[in-house]
Amino acid sequence: MTENTQEPEKVDFIRNIIRDDLAAGRHTDDLVFRFPPEPNGHLHIGHAKSICLNFGLAKEFSARCHLRFDDTNPLNEDESYMHAIKQDVSWLGCDWGDHLYYASDYFEMIYRKAVLLIEKGLAYVESLPADQIREYRGTLTEPGKPSPYRDRSVEENVDLFKRMRAGEFTDGEHCLRAKIDLSSGNLNMRDPVLYRIRHAHHDRTGDTWCIYPLYDFTHALSDATEGITHSLCTLEFQDHRPLYDWVVENCDMEHTPRQIEFSRLNLNYTVMSKRYLKKLVEEKLVSGWDDPRLPTISGLRRRGYTAESIRQFCSDVGISKSDSMINMTQLEDCLRSDLNQKAPRRMAVLDPLLVELVNYEEAGCDHLLVSNHPQDSSFGKRDVAFTRDLYIERSDFMMEPVKGFKRLSPDGRARLMNGFVITCESVETNAEGEVTKLVCRLSPETLGGKPLACGTKVRGVIHWVSKDNAVDADIRLYDRLFKVENPMALEAMEEALNADSLKTVVAKVEPSLLDAEKQAHYQFSRVGYFCSDSEDHDPKSGKLVFNQAVPLRSTWS
Ligand code: ATP
Ligand code: MG
Repeated sequence: MTENTQEPEKVDFIRNIIRDDLAAGRHTDDLVFRFPPEPNGHLHIGHAKSICLNFGLAKEFSARCHLRFDDTNPLNEDESYMHAIKQDVSWLGCDWGDHLYYASDYFEMIYRKAVLLIEKGLAYVESLPADQIREYRGTLTEPGKPSPYRDRSVEENVDLFKRMRAGEFTDGEHCLRAKIDLSSGNLNMRDPVLYRIRHAHHDRTGDTWCIYPLYDFTHALSDATEGITHSLCTLEFQDHRPLYDWVVENCDMEHTPRQIEFSRLNLNYTVMSKRYLKKLVEEKLVSGWDDPRLPTISGLRRRGYTAESIRQFCSDVGISKSDSMINMTQLEDCLRSDLNQKAPRRMAVLDPLLVELVNYEEAGCDHLLVSNHPQDSSFGKRDVAFTRDLYIERSDFMMEPVKGFKRLSPDGRARLMNGFVITCESVETNAEGEVTKLVCRLSPETLGGKPLACGTKVRGVIHWVSKDNAVDADIRLYDRLFKVENPMALEAMEEALNADSLKTVVAKVEPSLLDAEKQAHYQFSRVGYFCSDSEDHDPKSGKLVFNQAVPLRSTWS
């Protein structure tokens, strides 16, 4: 991580293991961590947890963290994903320095290790078709039975494996399996497949290979080759650890990384697996990988999330071994508290209602000097035009106010934010009975937060924008993407999509927002935190587009 904040020392089971390892002198060399994404989609906030953990540990222990693309499956992978992943990791403030690696760079080494296993009598070429391999492997209650090819001689295995590499066979005709233990209670140890034939072009190795190593084999060897000391992964790999250790041990690797598993991050009302995210993108159920409703890092960034807020969230969630579902409110709260400090304030009216100030001349001013941040004077002040006609939020007026309503109503009063107290004197409506305008009177003595001369207390404060100066802005309001808490548990997640997850309104905003660059954060007073869109916001041509990052108060109950 680039920032050097003075945080208290973190305590969790992984950090305890590392401290114990160090205390016991188990690592004479530097500690090395890694983040190993498969370039088959964009990263999501779950990956952020892993990124923050690995790069965070590297920073805390003055060690290094590698970024390694696990690019062993040419059918699913794409260069554009690699680019996006690097961008996201950097944006999160994590720096891999010179340590960018690709599993595909190890293909020759991995091949040699496979030959070594064959020579040791620990791997064999299998010629059963995939469904029979599965059948022979047995079940949790039944042991596996040996394939008729299990006892091929070393010479025959070496010869067949070389010919697999040379492209003599078709996909699926043979594969290479480790020879471990067909009666193991752990199915991963029942002669797992190490290599398969796949006549497919690889983005980085081209057509050099037509056999590709499988994940468990590749991953353990990549970690060991890079001298990774602690290989941190999610709990679903727990049952793969014996295989990981077996590979490292039997391939005579110099380094012996230690695999440690922790629980995945799960967030409610969303999906967190690249497979599901890809489906949403490919079926155009969202606008793309960076759709602000998605939990992808690019989506969150476009929505207005800051890297600091995501890092804080990952730190708050912490590391453990127990699976849990985290509430979206927790993520949003991290953003609120970050933007509360960072975002300048502006006024924007999302659902405008016209107000005319009948005694406007008594104000004696045509602009007000307003501070950009109520708690931080370093944000400075700005001039806000104050005119006879203003827009206020329609919801700040009630024809028949309910008990406790403190804003405008017929004969009611409210204070214009940073301005005067106004009293509603009459209400104009159209033929449909809809309120079209409020005619109000301002109390000139109340400027600067001063009380009414009559002493009556005015508690409601409302935001407003001058009609003559207002600029139109497209505001994108977001709601949860799914109507159910755990859409991944459904047969067809798309049936639970919330049809109202995006609503665009045309708001009246202060003209100062014409200065907003792309991806700039603001608090629209009393409404929420907003971020100008990284794609569609184009103030030079007068097009203002803001995404609602988060409302001021949680709407997740
Ligand atoms: P997905 O299921 O979303 O495709 P993945 O595990 O297949 O995720 P990889 O690219 O293989 O994605 O993951 C890279 C790293 O990120 C792995 O170490 C993985 O354990 C970790 N990771 C993935 N999802 C999460 C999550 N939800 N919480 C924490 N870590 C995660
Ligand atoms: Mg994966």
